[in-house]
Amino acid sequence: MSLLAGKTALIFGVANDHSIAWGIAKAMHEQGARLGFSYAVESLERRVRPLAESIGSTFVEPCDVSDDSQIEDVFEKSADAFGTVDTLVHAIAFAGREELSRPYSETSREGFRVAMDISVYSFTALARAAAPLMKNGGSMLTLTYYGAQKVTTNYNVMGVAKAALEASVRYLAADLGPRGIRVNAISAGPVRTLSAAGVSGFKRLYRQFADMAPLRRNITPEDVGGAAVWLASDLAQAVTGETIFVDSGYNILGVPTLEEHSSS
Ligand code: NAP
Repeated sequence: MSLLAGKTALIFGVANDHSIAWGIAKAMHEQGARLGFSYAVESLERRVRPLAESIGSTFVEPCDVSDDSQIEDVFEKSADAFGTVDTLVHAIAFAGREELSRPYSETSREGFRVAMDISVYSFTALARAAAPLMKNGGSMLTLTYYGAQKVTTNYNVMGVAKAALEASVRYLAADLGPRGIRVNAISAGPVRTLSAAGVSGFKRLYRQFADMAPLRRNITPEDVGGAAVWLASDLAQAVTGETIFVDSGYNILGVPTLEEHSSS
């Protein structure tokens, strides 16, 4: 049974084949969804287009989410190409490298503004533009991280931004619920991607994660893809406003401890 047969999903945030958004795209494609992609800057097109084409998608359009006119353009083109959209995937975040290495209290005003604009407001802007295309209701999805809820070394302004993103999910879910549109976040465990490489100390955090998480393993973009398929499908038709953890259970731990053999 194809869980997403007949559904169309727009995916924002594929940078390369390591991106979480790509894991989601592959999983949605396997379940029969028709997909459209957007990329941030011209130089990324040469990486995103071949990936999209490898799963039969020719809709690949630019959209820097800090620019309202580009958001308007991409949704006009989506309306022309697809008519109706069922799923929106927002897998976008940005903060300056310096904000992710020095103490949080040193965050600059401009660094704070940019992180909030790209990582938080963009989901609200995309949701507003996508809602009119969700004529049969729909499912909107964003990506967050545990650093929104508990302090994570060097995650800093991105943790504050993810907290605001998770709050946005609840407000959007309340606004759009009466139109049959569900809005949820997936809180993913650490995954080795371009964005993650910008967080100082990420490699160590990634290595230690598998020794501490209840399932004793790291997670993959494909793991996130599975949860995303479920949220986009009718199986999750009464689920909205939630932050769903795909993190090998890490978030349930009070005081995470490393296993004896973990230093190897
Ligand atoms: P990624 O592959 O680097 O994807 C991040 C995407 O955001 C890139 O496609 C990037 O494009 C895009 N982006 C940044 N600024 C943009 C802008 N102004 N307009 C449009 N797109 C823009 O990294 P990822 O780890 O898969 O990140 C996807 C999401 O998962 C993010 O929200 C991230 O916070 C979240 N997440 C990641 C982890 C992890 O450990 N990796 C864990 C939990 C949650 P450019 O490359 O052109 O900047």
